[in-house]
Amino acid sequence: MNIDALARPAIRALTPYQPGKPVSELARERGLPDIIKLASNENPLGPGPQALAAARAALSDSHFYPDGSGFELKAALARHLAVTPAQITLGNGSNDVLELIARVFLEPGVEAVFSEHAFAVYPLATQAAGATARVASAHAGQHGPRYGHDLTALREQVTPLTRVVFIANPNNPTGTTLPAAGLRSFLASLPDTTVVVIDEAYFEYVEASDYPNTVQWLADFPRLIVTRTFSKAYGLAGLRIGYAVSSAEMADWLNRVRLPFNVSMAAMAAAQAALDDTDYLRRSVALNREGLAYLTQGFGARGLDYIPSMGNFVAVDVGRLAAPVYTALLQEGVIVRPVANYGLPRHLRVTVGLPEQNRLFLEALDRVLAA
Ligand code: PMP
Repeated sequence: MNIDALARPAIRALTPYQPGKPVSELARERGLPDIIKLASNENPLGPGPQALAAARAALSDSHFYPDGSGFELKAALARHLAVTPAQITLGNGSNDVLELIARVFLEPGVEAVFSEHAFAVYPLATQAAGATARVASAHAGQHGPRYGHDLTALREQVTPLTRVVFIANPNNPTGTTLPAAGLRSFLASLPDTTVVVIDEAYFEYVEASDYPNTVQWLADFPRLIVTRTFSKAYGLAGLRIGYAVSSAEMADWLNRVRLPFNVSMAAMAAAQAALDDTDYLRRSVALNREGLAYLTQGFGARGLDYIPSMGNFVAVDVGRLAAPVYTALLQEGVIVRPVANYGLPRHLRVTVGLPEQNRLFLEALDRVLAA
């Protein structure tokens, strides 16, 4: 019997998540010495000094299993977010939490709703669960930011069979956000058979005045789950730690499918220290603000259209199919992300790097587009 005949039908049709190309892979392939990776929305400052010290210290206890309940980190997060520890679910990255949600609520015969151009894990998790995806068209530009989530279109996709709505705020790869008022009315309009996930992986970067703090809405919406991560502004992507905030009842359901010890002790220690390192967070956000302005001004000066972003990345329309531009940039030692798989074949998603990296990227882009 072939293995593919044994695999569940939902899994047979899966195409795995395409991560950004690692620096070591490009170095191996091309023998390039100086590689700039602006492909995975990582923090270009490196990990914060306090988080790194805490992770190092935790390693000396590596012969023990981590605290599977995450007691200390949950207590710290609860203080930070003004919720109770019982409302928090820790994950191996927020990706892990998204999978837990799919495992609890999705199965063949039910539906998940998300937007066109939304984060790739929503279709993957939906498909792997055997559930049906209903994809809402994104804004065309008249009633909201072009390529951004359209709440009216999303609401129209919700049926009595919809168990989960996934919303990324900001969304990756578009960087678009939804304002507080519209999002709150959307939540209020949903039937009580629908769980809503608001994925706030880039929460700490957003400086828009109408951007909501949805954790404060949890008391009003028992089926709301907010997910956040330490991978982006907190600079800990490699340690893999993220979390969900929800009602305690919802957290209890997620906890039933969570693998024991899904988060390492180094990750928990680093995350706890990172919460206290406000100086590092402030520097990360400021560096991002300046780098994003520099990149978008650079695109504007070159006549390149881009999607205004609230995250630590920006999608730029290179004016032609982006795949060959991506490949030519690799030759230049610059790794960015093609996003044709997100329905954006002419865009490249570029993570905001250090000032020097941003400059070198624009120079490489000039050479590639001129060639
Ligand atoms: N949500 C969004 C919108 C993202 O862009 C990402 C990272 N690419 C994640 C969730 C998952 O990140 P992590 O698992 O590192 O927390």
